[in-house]
This record gives sequence, C-alpha cells and structure tokens, in this order.
Amino acid sequence: SPPAALAALAAAVPAAAGVHVVNNNAAGLALTVAALAGRREVVISRGELVETTDGFRLPELLVAAGARMREVGTTNRTTLGDYADAIGPDTGLVLRVHTASYQVIGFTDSPTISDLAALCADFEVPLVGDCGSGLLHPEPTLAAEPDATSWLGWGVDVVTTSGDKLLGGPQCGLLLGRADLIDRIRRHPMSRPLRAGKLTLAALEATLRHPDSPVRQALRARPERLAARAETLAGWLRRAGIAASAVA
Ligand SMILES: *Cc1c(COP(=O)(O)O)cnc(C)c1O
Repeated sequence: SPPAALAALAAAVPAAAGVHVVNNNAAGLALTVAALAGRREVVISRGELVETTDGFRLPELLVAAGARMREVGTTNRTTLGDYADAIGPDTGLVLRVHTASYQVIGFTDSPTISDLAALCADFEVPLVGDCGSGLLHPEPTLAAEPDATSWLGWGVDVVTTSGDKLLGGPQCGLLLGRADLIDRIRRHPMSRPLRAGKLTLAALEATLRHPDSPVRQALRARPERLAARAETLAGWLRRAGIAASAVA
C-alpha cells in the first residue's frame, strides 16, 4: 500500500525528513518547481542546462512547469558569486543538476554543493538538487556518481532522483528532503495527476526492502565471474559459426 512504500523509502534514506513518490524524475522536478517556485525564478548554472534521452530538455520542462529561468555563469564556469548576484526577492529556488549525460572538462569551475547550500541558507531560498541516478547512498564501485544521502548531508533541501536507473526499481521519481518543503510539494494540485500508481509503489517497496538488487549485483560482480560468463557466451557464438573470444 502507498504508506508502506513511503515508510520503506523513509527507512532507506534516514537523512530525508520528508519523502514523496511521483511518476518519474522529470515529474518530480516539474512538481517541485511548480510547488516551490511557482511563477518566480529558478536560478540555474548555464553549465547544467541538460538534454537527456528522448529529447527531454530540462530548461523546457522548467518553463512548462510555470517558472522563469534565471541562468547564471557560463557553460564551463559558474562561481558562488554568480549565484549570489542572481538571488533576490524574485527567486523561487536554486537548482543544481547532476549532468549525467555529458562532462565539461578543462577550464571549469562550479561551487561545491555544501558552499551552494550555505549560500542558499543565508538567502533563505530552497536549494533543489536533481541527482538523477537513483543512488540513495554512496556506491564504492561508482565513486563519481552522486547519491541522495550525501547531497542531503551537504545541505540540499530537496533531492529529486529516479526510482529506476541505479536504484533498480520501477520507473518513478523520488522526492527527498526537508519535511516542510516535501509537504508543500505533496499538497500542490499537480501532485495528484503526477502521482505513482499502486503497482509502482508495491514494486518500489519490494526494491527498497530487498537486501540486494540486480543492479547492485551487476555492479559488484567479481571479474572471475564476468570472465566465466563471457567465455560461455563466446562459446555459443563460436558454435554458431561466429568468431568470438572473451577479452578483459
Ligand atoms: C534520468 C534523469 C532525469 C529524468 O528522469 P526520468 O525518471 O527518466 O524522468 C532527470 N534528471 C537527471 C539528472 C537524470 O539523470
């Protein structure tokens, strides 16, 4: 049942005082922006205006959700001062997005999440972090991949992330963070049309309560075991007349 899935999520992420589940991460972001920013500005770095698969363009989603974009910095460099200059009476929230589908390398700069969180706390504007991948805790095999617990610990007020991807659950969007903000998000009128269905919630609960997931098993598979599997596959291909060998 729905409360059970939310209880499982709260137990899985003790750093989040409030939790909510919607249909997918894009829905979670749209709902968060509608509820916390309304028609005010969403402050975001020009280096984080991402497009992901299927033509999903984050800036277009923010505008469709009713907010106004306040872009700061440049493609490769955004400083804490850029954010500070942009935050004002018209700021609805500051958004930090994990750019999972590309990397900007070379002459780059962006403030740490904790510095950005401290700045937002000073200005009393919410910091929302789209962490994307569905990792709830640090994953040793993916050191560079952000996780919800770390972002919350660094002071992000609301983290949005996927229930699928690296979490390995059903397609859904997880909202984690400050209880008062999650409450405002849950009570927004758009919450109803974006909510997750019962089957999704049941699958999410099962994923969260299970000690392991296929994704985690795959990430932690031992090299010897992968080699044996690859040898088997190569053998099948060779028997079918296709040249194949397993390599590291
Ligand atoms: C995958 C992803 C999304 C979209 O999530 P869906 O659950 O597919 O809607 C949004 N932001 C980031 C950073 C992502 O990685």
